[in-house]
Amino acid sequence: DHTLYEQVMATIKSERINFVNLEFTDVVGVAKCVTIPAEQFADCVRHGKWFDGSALENIARVAESDMYLYPDLATFSILPGHVRPPSGTRKNDIHNDGDNVIARVICDVREPDGERFEGDPRAALFHVLELAKEMGFKYQVAPELEFFLLRFDDKKPMPLQDDPGSYFDLSTQTTINIRSEMVHALQSMGMKIEGSHHEVASGQHEIDFDTGDALRMADNLLTAKYVIKAIAAQHQLYATFLPKPFYRINGSGLHIHQQLLHRDTGQNAFIDDHSEYGLSEIGRGFIAGQLAHARSMCAILAPLVNSYKRLVRGYEAPVFINWGRVNRQALIRVPRPGTDPQASMRIELRCTDPSCNPHLALAVMLRAGLDGIQRKLTLPPAMDETIFLQDDSERLRPRSRLLPATLGEALDSMREDSLIRDVLGDTIYEGFMDAKSIEWTEYRQQVHQWEIERYLAQF
Ligand code: GLU
Ligand code: MG
Ligand code: MG
Repeated sequence: DHTLYEQVMATIKSERINFVNLEFTDVVGVAKCVTIPAEQFADCVRHGKWFDGSALENIARVAESDMYLYPDLATFSILPGHVRPPSGTRKNDIHNDGDNVIARVICDVREPDGERFEGDPRAALFHVLELAKEMGFKYQVAPELEFFLLRFDDKKPMPLQDDPGSYFDLSTQTTINIRSEMVHALQSMGMKIEGSHHEVASGQHEIDFDTGDALRMADNLLTAKYVIKAIAAQHQLYATFLPKPFYRINGSGLHIHQQLLHRDTGQNAFIDDHSEYGLSEIGRGFIAGQLAHARSMCAILAPLVNSYKRLVRGYEAPVFINWGRVNRQALIRVPRPGTDPQASMRIELRCTDPSCNPHLALAVMLRAGLDGIQRKLTLPPAMDETIFLQDDSERLRPRSRLLPATLGEALDSMREDSLIRDVLGDTIYEGFMDAKSIEWTEYRQQVHQWEIERYLAQF
């Protein structure tokens, strides 16, 4: 797109941009970046930026390590001033000492012959979006990003004791200010933010994104996480997206509200005023598909050993594979559509957490939903909230399917699902499985403090 290119080049000049961060991700969801001086950007757009693909740990085999980053110009935006020059930048690379202007652009990873690299999570999402397009749909999402602000006390991370607000509380002015600064920074990069609020735990906050195109949203989540961390750091705080930082305290989720729109009309494909819950057949199929693949996609949506400590009863996180209206423990929630059903009819998946790779997460979620539509899967009855909420016992346990209880269980389920494997492609699937199996095994072999306290004196 020539005009877009001209615009970007003009911005580099007028805003005196010195560096461009070329961003991409590895399979385990870590944001990666190669920084180039702005003078090299034109060349990078034309020929790609060479990098050693073996940096993508677990992705590139030695023989395939020549990779190229190609910027997606539509994602070009200037990083807020909070984000300092990347560490490792040599002093003499910096032209206007002190006030560097850095832009970020999200890149596709391509092989020397120009083909999309199969191991690039963005390519995996791209392919599923193409399938949705062929089926006549556009996938829109609105994530709710939760995180903790921590202070380090003797190197021990502590939640902010002076930020004891709870759900939607108007907490101390300081954290409101910091959060507003975060929101402004994200907005300055073109992200649309619906709102932000304090979450239930001390020091826990949430930023909600406006509904938008899935690919763009995955790109933005990548950047948003380190922008939020950079701003926290300026206030001598640490922002963590670890799903469950503290025992017995609510964890942090990344709930994702989703919609399918008809591509030709732009109309919400989940709506049917005449049917139960106002859900169309497409909507019902989509939910049924995500329920059917919930166990096997969980390793992608909640990828850490720690993720499964969040998915336990009693902390507003899902445990069962079910759906409902208001039930905060439901895996999928269908909020009652508001006065504008076209905009507000959406389904919320709640097991996802902010440590996931957003491109892979949206890819498997969309594929699972489409599978439900293609195979016309039947939607099981909604979990009745009142019955469910009364249930303190394990009464429902035998009757319900459960989400995996550990990363190990999640990986086992993933191995059995060829659809999920296809979405990822062999390179990502194998890289992910390898990395995560090692992580799980390493954790499994630890002797935990809990075991010593509970067993040592007794046995
Ligand atoms: N923090 C909760 C979780 O782990 C979610 C709270 C909410 O409903 O927003 O998913
Ligand atoms: Mg929340
Ligand atoms: Mg939510």
